Amino acid sequence: MSAGTPTLCDECDLLQQSPPLPPGGASLCVRCGHVLHRHRPNSVDRTLALTVTGLVLFAIANTFPFLSFEMQGQETQTTLVTGVHDLAAQGKVGVASVVLFTSVVAPGLQLLLLLIVLAPLKLGGRLPPRFPTLFRWFKRLVPWGMMDVFMIGILVSVVKLTDMATIVPGTSLFAFVVLIFVLAAAQASLDPDVVWERVPLRPAVRRAPAPGEAVIGCDVCELVVPERAADVDPGGRLRCPRCADVLHRRKPDSLQRTWALVIAAAVFYLPANIYPVMAVTSLGQTQADTILSGVLFLLHHGMWPLAIIVFTASIFVPLLKLLILLFLLLSVHFRSSWRPCERTRMYRITEAIGRWSMTDVYVVTILVALVRLGNLASIEAKAGAVFFCAVVILTMLAAMSFDPRLIWDTLEQDHDGVRAAPRAAT
Ligand SMILES: [Zn+2]
Ligand SMILES: [Zn+2]
Repeated sequence: MSAGTPTLCDECDLLQQSPPLPPGGASLCVRCGHVLHRHRPNSVDRTLALTVTGLVLFAIANTFPFLSFEMQGQETQTTLVTGVHDLAAQGKVGVASVVLFTSVVAPGLQLLLLLIVLAPLKLGGRLPPRFPTLFRWFKRLVPWGMMDVFMIGILVSVVKLTDMATIVPGTSLFAFVVLIFVLAAAQASLDPDVVWERVPLRPAVRRAPAPGEAVIGCDVCELVVPERAADVDPGGRLRCPRCADVLHRRKPDSLQRTWALVIAAAVFYLPANIYPVMAVTSLGQTQADTILSGVLFLLHHGMWPLAIIVFTASIFVPLLKLLILLFLLLSVHFRSSWRPCERTRMYRITEAIGRWSMTDVYVVTILVALVRLGNLASIEAKAGAVFFCAVVILTMLAAMSFDPRLIWDTLEQDHDGVRAAPRAAT
């Protein structure tokens, strides 16, 4: 990121100049404290090395046995996707798809897209066709890769089964654990600015906006585009000249979409907690397990750290997210000017914590895959798991639909309700 580049904060929409960054340094928005740019030394080399390592580990994790379950001389062996297959066989196709996408497809695609984007940057060859689109997809996939949450699900599942049987980790599990750290390190060492700066720009876009000229910030590549220089697609929508994403001053229909998703999630929250998420059959006897009874089970067995994690992730976090989003929606609706920085921070928290609620969905998936010994011992996913999975996805989509810039619009002189007036360069 070259010094002096105009930057629009994507959380409060303040137009500012980016200062020169020292190695490892970051620039923060002067108004809301959001990280605008972070300099990451040797970003392409380090990220590419981690990506290649990650792809090898991904192949191992998806090839070898994951966990084995041994009980009274009988054994079941699972791979990473056995649970997905079994959930689908039990009629829970929606939950199975979500688990497959978040634990296998999204992390795998992220690694593949990073390789396709970074390899030409390192090797100095021609950029691949649709290079900006590929990197845009990578960015979109990041929140949906949840291998770290899956790992917590494995821990909880193993603890739940310790009384019942012996669990033996397979080669794939070790590769999976290392992969979690490698993927996190790859994401942390990636400097998106280094990638975006390689996309050639027309001089009309590259120039600094004139004082008073209307500009619009791209949500994906963060280019500040003079409005007159934006591309226009056949549908009449403005598109970013760098990454081709549709340009919006605010996320489209942000308030309506967020309201709808919050209400839907709130409606599902109750059955998610009342209905059993799974039915455990052991020696011919069947017992239904709700999310709360799962927490109590861990408590009774002295596993209080895991009980706290599951309670926080499954019961507390979804409720907290719904309450925060409700509060933010109402504050925007009533044009509150109360502590915009704190409200923006609250929004950031809801975006960051939501994925951890997937823990219980993964627990059900892993248990269903492991415990498949008919009347001796078997576990079946129940309706509660479907509702619960819906709550997690809906609250994540709700947080993504909410536009934190709306919080700041009330403070601006030039707003006209939901949509702010075009941002003008100064
Ligand atoms: Zn800001
Ligand atoms: Zn863009």
